[in-house]
Amino acid sequence: MVHKNAKKIIFTRQEMFDFNKKTLLNRGVTIEAIAEISFQQQSKYTDDISRDICIESVEKILSLRDVFHHVQLAAEIDRLAEEGMFKGPIQDIIYEDLGLFGIDETMGLDVSGLYGTIGQTNFGDIDVNKHGIVKRLNDAGKEDGICHTFMDDIVGAIAAAASTRVAQVMNEEIAHEDIGVKRFSIFDL
Ligand code: MG
Repeated sequence: MVHKNAKKIIFTRQEMFDFNKKTLLNRGVTIEAIAEISFQQQSKYTDDISRDICIESVEKILSLRDVFHHVQLAAEIDRLAEEGMFKGPIQDIIYEDLGLFGIDETMGLDVSGLYGTIGQTNFGDIDVNKHGIVKRLNDAGKEDGICHTFMDDIVGAIAAAASTRVAQVMNEEIAHEDIGVKRFSIFDL
C-alpha cells in the first residue's frame, strides 16, 4: 500500500484531550467554566454534586475521538469565517450567526447525546438560556471580527453531555449501593 506522505491523523486520548483543551483556551474557554454550567444544571435535579465530578466529566468528554473531531472542526469553521475564507452566501450566514442557520446546533445535538437523550434536552436548555461561558461566547461573537457561531454550541453541548454523565454516574452509584458492590469496571461511564 502506498502511503500519502504519512500525515498523522490518529491521536491518543491524551493527545486529543490536550488539543481540545488548547483549542478551547484559545477562545478563553476553560474546563472549569464548562464544568460550572454542568454543575449549575445538574444541581437542580440532584443534591450533593461535587464540582470534581463535573470537571472529571468534561475532561473525559474532551478526550473522546468524536468530540475531538467536533471541537476541532467547529473551531476551524469559526476561524475561517472570521478570516472571510468561505466563498458564497455561507460566509456571511456563518459570520453573522443567522438565527435560522442550525448546523451548529446539529453538531451540538450530536455531542450532547453522548450519555443519553436527556443530554439533548439539557443542551436545548443551555442553548436557549445561555448560561455562563456560553453567554460570554455568544456576546463576544457579536463583536467585529469575532465569530463564535459553532464554538458556543460545542461548548454548551459538552456542558450538557457532562451534566448528563454526572447523572448517569450518580445513578450507577445508587444502583451499586442497592446490590452492595462498590466499584464498577467494564461498564465505567
Ligand atoms: Mg451557535
